[in-house]
Amino acid sequence: MDDSMLLTGIIRTLGLTALVILSYSIVIRTFSKGWKKGAAVGTLFALGGILSMNDPVVIAPGVFFDGRTALLAIAYPYGGLVGTVVAVLLMAGYRIWLGGAGLVPGLISIITVSAIGFAITLIPVRRLPIGITRSTLTGLLASLSLVWIILLPHDIVATIIGFPLFAVTIANVMNVVVVTDFLEREKSRLRIMRALEHEAWVDPLTKLHNRRAFDQAALRAMNDNKSKSTHCSLVMIDIDHFKAINDRWGHSMGDVVLADVASIIRKNVRITDVVVRYGGEEIVLLLLNTPQTVANELAERVRSEIEHTDFSTDVENVNVTVSAGVASLDERYTSMEALLKAADKALYRAKTSGRNRVEVA
Ligand code: GH3
Ligand code: MG
Ligand code: MG
Repeated sequence: MDDSMLLTGIIRTLGLTALVILSYSIVIRTFSKGWKKGAAVGTLFALGGILSMNDPVVIAPGVFFDGRTALLAIAYPYGGLVGTVVAVLLMAGYRIWLGGAGLVPGLISIITVSAIGFAITLIPVRRLPIGITRSTLTGLLASLSLVWIILLPHDIVATIIGFPLFAVTIANVMNVVVVTDFLEREKSRLRIMRALEHEAWVDPLTKLHNRRAFDQAALRAMNDNKSKSTHCSLVMIDIDHFKAINDRWGHSMGDVVLADVASIIRKNVRITDVVVRYGGEEIVLLLLNTPQTVANELAERVRSEIEHTDFSTDVENVNVTVSAGVASLDERYTSMEALLKAADKALYRAKTSGRNRVEVA
């Protein structure tokens, strides 16, 4: 075939992979991990490959070049084992349906390329970082699958050897470089977005939710409460004499104590409970579907565990206690504001009656 047509064909193939890149962003947003993500990525790469097989560059009768090589070569790093199997099966199925003189080498090369893609993941990223060199190597090695054209009749092989083979190899390398670069950018964009989202709701020191998260959860709890008349309790916990801890062992030890207290509390609640750093050393638990007696038991358990925990410094043991106030939604307290006020009052009572205790509103 005409060399210039070969080149425009190859550029067309690169364009098609752009569609895959765009859709990849939707897939990784929808499925963040696990076999479903693998299957979705594999399906996407297969669809890209199939679309590309539908619009191939015919380099010799029955022998096609298309974007499938690049996509198969990166199926393992981006879709894992599940993604690779899905991509191989779908693309092989379609290749069988297409038929032609290149069917057998086509099928063997689908398997070879995906195996090469897997083999490259065995090179540790710290040895060969994700970037242009790794992608070029992937593209070059994936092009080795072209050796299967020797299975074709000699006259066909003769028309492929030379410029077409060279152009196809370069196209594979370019394809892998471009696709990998975009997919990596997309992955890192999503990572940054998720981290920012996380930061907006979570306190960095204690890893507890912040006030903004509490407001949202409180709103949801109140709406639920109206519709289902479920129990909802609130526990307000405050570290006793925390200022003295800071004064005696330093602010950074205070930070450690605060983070440890937070983690003890988190360990004692259910996944559906909302634990919030409400103020400096004040932690609020919003307990859904929890009657007052159960909330009281939980607060008591937390109080006791903290009392018996050793918050050691290098020099000596630090004993920490907390006081807590418990309040539940009932006919007296019908709003979140009222509940917060009641829990705060109960906490105040716990403080004035000696600390290291739980009081119920
Ligand atoms: P009480 O038993 O009455 O609660 O006494 P307290 O000393 O715990 O209470 P007070 O309100 O007098 O002091 C709270 C202290 O908590 C003062 C503040 O410097 C400290 N604090 C607030 N946030 C942090 C933090 O993030 N890290 C550290 N290390 N200290 C904090
Ligand atoms: Mg305190
Ligand atoms: Mg306080």
